[in-house]
Amino acid sequence: MRDLAKRDYYEVLGVDKSASDEELKRAYRRLARKYHPDVNKDDPQAEEKFKEINEAYGVLSDQKTRAEYDQFGHEGPTGQGFGGFDFSGFGGGFGDIFDMFFGGGGFGSSSRGRRPGPTRGSDMRYNLTISFEEAAFGTTKEIEITRNENCDECKGSGAAKGTQPETCPQCNGTGEISYAQNTAFGRFVNVRACDKCGGEGTIVKEPCNKCNGRKRIRKVKRISLNIPAGIDDGQAITLRGEGEAGERGGSSGDLYVYITVRPHTLFTRRGYDLHCDIPITFVQAALGAEIEVPTLEGKVKYKVPEGTQTGTIFRLRNQGIQRLRSTTRGDLFVRVNIEVPKRLKEKQKQLLRQFEKETAGKEYHEERKSFVDKMKDVFGV
Ligand SMILES: [Zn+2]
Ligand SMILES: [Zn+2]
Repeated sequence: MRDLAKRDYYEVLGVDKSASDEELKRAYRRLARKYHPDVNKDDPQAEEKFKEINEAYGVLSDQKTRAEYDQFGHEGPTGQGFGGFDFSGFGGGFGDIFDMFFGGGGFGSSSRGRRPGPTRGSDMRYNLTISFEEAAFGTTKEIEITRNENCDECKGSGAAKGTQPETCPQCNGTGEISYAQNTAFGRFVNVRACDKCGGEGTIVKEPCNKCNGRKRIRKVKRISLNIPAGIDDGQAITLRGEGEAGERGGSSGDLYVYITVRPHTLFTRRGYDLHCDIPITFVQAALGAEIEVPTLEGKVKYKVPEGTQTGTIFRLRNQGIQRLRSTTRGDLFVRVNIEVPKRLKEKQKQLLRQFEKETAGKEYHEERKSFVDKMKDVFGV
């Protein structure tokens, strides 16, 4: 039950392990004044901080509990911890400290009479994998989630039809039980969750027969999901209020559908543009050729001009992916790469040697010629 992430009590008060009682008291006064909820109404963290300070001081200001804390840490000698120290309901034994920052009276009221409030339901995550084309054109998918919903029989109260949850007689609806503890410093009030109602503040006498008093039921829910054209891998669709039901009237959480897009065998997507590498032969590149280019809608013919170099990129406008919430499309970039033939037969090699003889050193290979000339400049031969 104890929170293992609890901060060290000395650290909470900002004092040394060897701090004297007087030093502890001074540190406590300074911090308690700073974080008291009555002077920090707009800061919800102040109250937590204030409780933490009180708890730390409650333990360290008592010789016995301080020694136990030094030896056993937050677990205490019993392993049950020291309990949440609070100062509510003090009977005047603290005058010297409290009068000066609270002017007496009303102290501790902020932590009393507080029922557990509405809690928003948890968000949920659903992972959905779709095809490349579904992402490009958009689609509708049915998904099925299992989530907690408020029981429709008892409307989430847990009480049987015609009955209502009753205020817990043990804690009077606060969900907390306080009890006084006298220490060397004064009287502390220990607060813990009420065991009769489990901290809820209410008790269900006759439980709902549908949810057995659990207030919530697990339900399988089918949701039809509209996936917009242009969605990309890693993006999420948020369905507000489709997560887990809230508690005590709190709103439902959201459902996040994370999209994974299966890769395409021919296209790579970058933003809304598509990229495709197409191998062509040396002869096609040299002579020019009509090649087939894949697009999302099917194959199209494309004329590669005579003398095309390897790595040349051609742009086919508006053949990319439709932009999200738009009717415009990205482009398709086609890169042609010359594939050098391998494992040629002797007759084919002969043809190439003859071709090489015809073209070598002439104006057919400008880049090669320019490179050889530069080499001559550098090395003189
Ligand atoms: Zn019910
Ligand atoms: Zn109770």
